Amino acid sequence: MELVFDGHNDVLLRLWRNMKAGGDPIAEFMHGTPNGHIDGPRAKAGGLAGGLCAIYIPSGDLILKEPDADGRYETPLAAPLDHSPSVTIALEKAAIALRLDRAGAWRLCRSTADIRKAMEDGIFAAVMHMEGCEAIDPDLGNLDVFYAAGLRSLGPVWSRHNIFGHGVPFAFPVSPDTGPGLTDLGFELVRACNRLGILIDLSHITEKGFWDVAKTTDQPLIASHSNAHALTPVARNLTDRQLDAVKESGGLVGLNYAVTMLRDDGRDNVSTPLSDMIRHVDHMVGRMGIDHVALGSDFDGASIPEEIHDAGGNQNLVAALRGAGYAGEDLKKLCRENWLRVLGKAWHE
Ligand SMILES: [Zn+2]
Repeated sequence: MELVFDGHNDVLLRLWRNMKAGGDPIAEFMHGTPNGHIDGPRAKAGGLAGGLCAIYIPSGDLILKEPDADGRYETPLAAPLDHSPSVTIALEKAAIALRLDRAGAWRLCRSTADIRKAMEDGIFAAVMHMEGCEAIDPDLGNLDVFYAAGLRSLGPVWSRHNIFGHGVPFAFPVSPDTGPGLTDLGFELVRACNRLGILIDLSHITEKGFWDVAKTTDQPLIASHSNAHALTPVARNLTDRQLDAVKESGGLVGLNYAVTMLRDDGRDNVSTPLSDMIRHVDHMVGRMGIDHVALGSDFDGASIPEEIHDAGGNQNLVAALRGAGYAGEDLKKLCRENWLRVLGKAWHE
């Protein structure tokens, strides 16, 4: 088994939703459930040793627009969210992350040494990530509070607009150049993350926003859960020019398992073969080299190939990578070492 440290999941969203419906998130993660993709037992079975766990403020259920006769679709951007309810939800999700840590259900990691130790101890290594910064106030005051609670990674925007910048819609086939980039506050947020040692994630931001971050940050460029636009032209994937910039910066792109971002036709169809995932890995490795590609499953946040099904099936992808010729150090880089390298850089280790 090749242990995987993964760049993006939404397990906190699922646990939070179930908590709101009366469930116990700690018991659900510790003892397992047939629901969704990740819990302790399934992560263990699939060699999913840890990952970046998103605090995401939901926009309601995202329903992709039906494709037209030519297979095109354009889902309108979700409406901007109000700040105050977003803070409440973010605190509730951070609290679940802290309670899981206290209960010994997972280890909340603040350094790469923490992650390696958790992997050694066989306990899920969770890193707190914020996907869209609606919960951060304009003077960035509570960014320090979330940092103290363990926040070590954030994406300024999800696929909607906020005070920090602009996100891309779920649309196919569409360029990621869909609108403006960072706002003035967004540039300040990037500089604050550089100072504190918080990773900046470029998945979901417009192409303009990508270049705004690129010219401002002193960190490697990271897209935690995005694929190659050259193969699947959804606005969420990265163009070859963007991949070149990621390589140049020493960063990485985490392969998103979302079928809509893997398939030629961009359709939400779970009978998507693992060969589509390998195609994206091959393209990105061909363009950037083995040091700049990793995994970013989007477990609990997307429709994924039925051959993987959930975290318990994660080694099926590892087997497909082996079958495609990735082995030894290269396979370790794809599965976890590239993530550990860039996290160490962003965290000033
Ligand atoms: Zn996402």
